[in-house]
Amino acid sequence: MMAALTAAEDKSNQVVLLERQQRVGRKLLATGNGRCNLTNLNASPAHYHGEQPDFVRCALRQLPPTETLALFRSFGLLTVTEDSGRVYPLSDSASSVLDVLRFQLARRGVELRCASPVREIRREKDGFAICTDEGRLSADRLIVACGGAAGKKLGGVTDGYVLLAPLGHTRTKLYPSLVQLVTDPDYPRALKGVRADAALRLLRGRDCLAETRGEVQFTERGVSGPASFEISRAASTGGEGLSLVLDFLPDYTDTQLRALLIDRRDTLPELDAAELLTGLVHNRLGKMLLRYGGLKGKDTVGLLGDRELARAASVCKDFRLPVRGTEGFDSAQVTAGGLRTADFDPETMQSRLVPGLYVCGELLDVDGDCGGYNLQWAWVSGRLAGRLLP
Ligand SMILES: Cc1cc2nc3c(=O)[nH]c(=O)nc-3n(C[C@H](O)[C@H](O)[C@H](O)COP(=O)(O)OP(=O)(O)OC[C@H]3O[C@@H](n4cnc5c(N)ncnc54)[C@H](O)[C@@H]3O)c2cc1C
Repeated sequence: MMAALTAAEDKSNQVVLLERQQRVGRKLLATGNGRCNLTNLNASPAHYHGEQPDFVRCALRQLPPTETLALFRSFGLLTVTEDSGRVYPLSDSASSVLDVLRFQLARRGVELRCASPVREIRREKDGFAICTDEGRLSADRLIVACGGAAGKKLGGVTDGYVLLAPLGHTRTKLYPSLVQLVTDPDYPRALKGVRADAALRLLRGRDCLAETRGEVQFTERGVSGPASFEISRAASTGGEGLSLVLDFLPDYTDTQLRALLIDRRDTLPELDAAELLTGLVHNRLGKMLLRYGGLKGKDTVGLLGDRELARAASVCKDFRLPVRGTEGFDSAQVTAGGLRTADFDPETMQSRLVPGLYVCGELLDVDGDCGGYNLQWAWVSGRLAGRLLP
């Protein structure tokens, strides 16, 4: 949509937007839990991944998030920015973002053809032949913005990679990202629905592949929540033998926590031993941590020895779950991997292999962190592609 409305700014262009689904922007409506986190003021190459993470640099320099906001404001959208830099529509509704884009498409005379999946793209002498179920379209220039495989239920498909393969474009391996972690299920299942703030580390042996801090939520099959999403890329691409280490009291050192539990034994000796961690962490989580640490059987807190308290402190800060992988593309928010960026000009998004062909958005091998970075990439790459620069 951004590429099409940009291309239509030049009135000499006749722009047709072909959409596979019954309507445009289905995925957009689901973003940010229906609120649409449309950009992030901290967007910089450090928040993007792929074979060439620097590929985004030109685009972000030309169209930083402040420009994205100015552009959306000119479309009529008011936004609010949270302290984290995440930006949402003031209406708190993703449909506002889609509405202003649709309005711009109509205003600029873009012809919209929904329920019109592109089946094949062929190169012709002076451009491209685009085959749909309704027939064949000729175009002298073509922008492909089919998105990635993530969010299957919202229309995530692999069409773009398939359509462009005959034109010589190859892709990297694809992985689901910004997705729930699948772990050994026993403990998570018992904690299903419990939320907690934690520091997370993803380990392979002793190597730390990723770490973050934030909210996690336990599920039937593992760990969800914003913090787990942030390390999901590393879990998805990290291979076998991974484990997740959760520290549920990251603001306390081991020593401080031990001292706190000793104090608790002195002040609350008659407390049931199963309640040792109650008031420190979520009640169900506290009981489960004690079970995980093998601490049961004693009647009251007063009967717990120093070694047992030290063990309780250590499980709060070092709760380990073997990681089996992540959920798949069905539930992922973004595709890690995509069309090789080395085959595209980062200033224009034009193919280096096929003149007149432009590609933008998630279809390329660019994926961003959680927090509005992926839509920012969709907007800026779409805007560059829509300029149709030689
Ligand atoms: C649940 C969920 C929540 C998310 N939340 C956020 C968020 O808050 N912030 C953020 O930055 N990112 C978020 N994302 C990621 C973000 O939505 C995507 O990265 C972004 O939409 C990618 O834009 P795109 O235009 O490249 O692809 P898409 O938005 O996927 O659009 C591609 C379009 O191409 C169409 N298409 C595909 N194949 C064909 C074909 N053969 N012929 C015709 N049309 C075709 C599709 O139907 C689709 O409408 C979220 C993703 C999901 C799934």
